Amino acid sequence: MYDVIIIGSGLGGLVCANLLSKKGLKVLVLERQHQPGGCLQSYRRGTMMYDTGLHYVGGLAEGQPLHDIFKELELLSLPWQKLDANGFDHIMIGDREYRFAEGYENFLEMLAKDFPEDRDSLQRYIQLMQCTDEVWMQQTNAYGYLSNIIPNPLLLSVLSGACLKMELKRDTLPLFTFVHGNAPFIQSSWRLKGDGNMIVRKLIENFTSRGGELICDAEVLELVEEYGLIKKAVCKNGRIYESRYFIGDAHPSVMLSLVKESLLLKKVYRRRIENLENTNGMFTAQLLLKPGEVPYFNFNEFLYDGLEAWDGRGYMVSCRVPEDGSAFARQIDILTPMNISECAAWTDTYPMRRGDDYLQFKTQKAQQCIAVAERFLPKLHEYIQEIHTSTPLTYRDYNLSPDGSAYGIRKDAAAPLLTVLSPRTGIPNLFLTGQSLMLHGLHGVTMTAMYTTKEIID
Ligand SMILES: Cc1cc2nc3c(=O)[nH]c(=O)nc-3n(C[C@H](O)[C@H](O)[C@H](O)COP(=O)(O)OP(=O)(O)OC[C@H]3O[C@@H](n4cnc5c(N)ncnc54)[C@H](O)[C@@H]3O)c2cc1C
Repeated sequence: MYDVIIIGSGLGGLVCANLLSKKGLKVLVLERQHQPGGCLQSYRRGTMMYDTGLHYVGGLAEGQPLHDIFKELELLSLPWQKLDANGFDHIMIGDREYRFAEGYENFLEMLAKDFPEDRDSLQRYIQLMQCTDEVWMQQTNAYGYLSNIIPNPLLLSVLSGACLKMELKRDTLPLFTFVHGNAPFIQSSWRLKGDGNMIVRKLIENFTSRGGELICDAEVLELVEEYGLIKKAVCKNGRIYESRYFIGDAHPSVMLSLVKESLLLKKVYRRRIENLENTNGMFTAQLLLKPGEVPYFNFNEFLYDGLEAWDGRGYMVSCRVPEDGSAFARQIDILTPMNISECAAWTDTYPMRRGDDYLQFKTQKAQQCIAVAERFLPKLHEYIQEIHTSTPLTYRDYNLSPDGSAYGIRKDAAAPLLTVLSPRTGIPNLFLTGQSLMLHGLHGVTMTAMYTTKEIID
């Protein structure tokens, strides 16, 4: 008998496991995949490791949003590398490039050089980045509010230019997501020197050293309710595990579908969660470069086809820190939003068995990404040794992310009470966590895991 069973070993599940085991609770994490980590897992091709859902993190320095909790989770000891203080993100719109500098004051002064007439707008923006009125931000539409305080459309596009780390949707995105998805990065931005698995391994090492357990290849098929409480988790391999509490890190609609019969989960609640929309997915081209050809760049480059970042047609080019200390990059990722409908022809297929036409589709898309990246890295195609790609189908099939969504349930400023979810369900010992509840990304998922664990321990 466990104190807490956690379904899913994504960041949310692992942070909960750490915080609960620290309080002396006996924790079991059940993961359906062969490898733990969810979006944070890394995969090997040849001698190289590639990440799936980690490029950079914001706010790790002392006094900043992630510092204390990462210290508690012992993640600060990992080899973090700070991105360039004078330009951690570069935004290329048209043929001009703009830079984001670290720290609110420097951020403002750097952009004021490009937009001298818009100093007041920049000041309002910096004030907004420090806003703490969460309820107001949840119910305020980001695009509407930002267009109001930043009348210059080019400046608005530039300030929104690093937002591939969220779904930049005009009619729904809440200011809360926009601010939390930008502010920590302005305070300080970091890359891991190594792969995302380092975070996963460290979190697993911590909670298992306190008596916790992780079992992979253990897909939970049913959570059995008896007398108004979940009593056991039934896995695909036939194993059954009992516990006092259960936490679901999988997508909320997946979690609720596991409770087949319940006196307490109201139909209206189930229907509400099932009907929520999900954010778009992502196409990723991961490039292995020939050695000694492309200098390492210690920033992210964001490129836009048109002048409007909010059209959702941006590209992010991110460089992996060379682990051998070389001045040259070996790995570059190019990301661009993709709706799963673009993969409709392969909806009923499985990983590695989707057919040649799918491979062709991915190759074409990768070539398109490379052509865009060449605006910033001329002749990039000549330096490529290997290309690995993923689409929303990849996330759908590996992480069970509905619609292959990159960031979980779509939040809507017009309906915060419907789209922002509580960790509580109708069943007193079943809780939710993960990116779909409140906020995605390492920052959002870690904060959410803290809220979830608070429901069980004080
Ligand atoms: C392409 C991409 C790039 C990103 N880049 C960044 C970045 O640079 N910085 C940043 O901060 N964030 C980034 N993110 C977001 C970040 O990776 C995610 O928000 C976060 O990792 C999500 O964690 P999670 O625990 O909510 O869910 P997940 O990682 O999705 O974990 C859920 C887990 O549950 C498991 N599961 C599902 N169903 C079951 C079941 N029935 N039984 C057992 N297990 C089950 C899944 O296999 C999975 O392991 C990125 C995301 C993507 C997709």
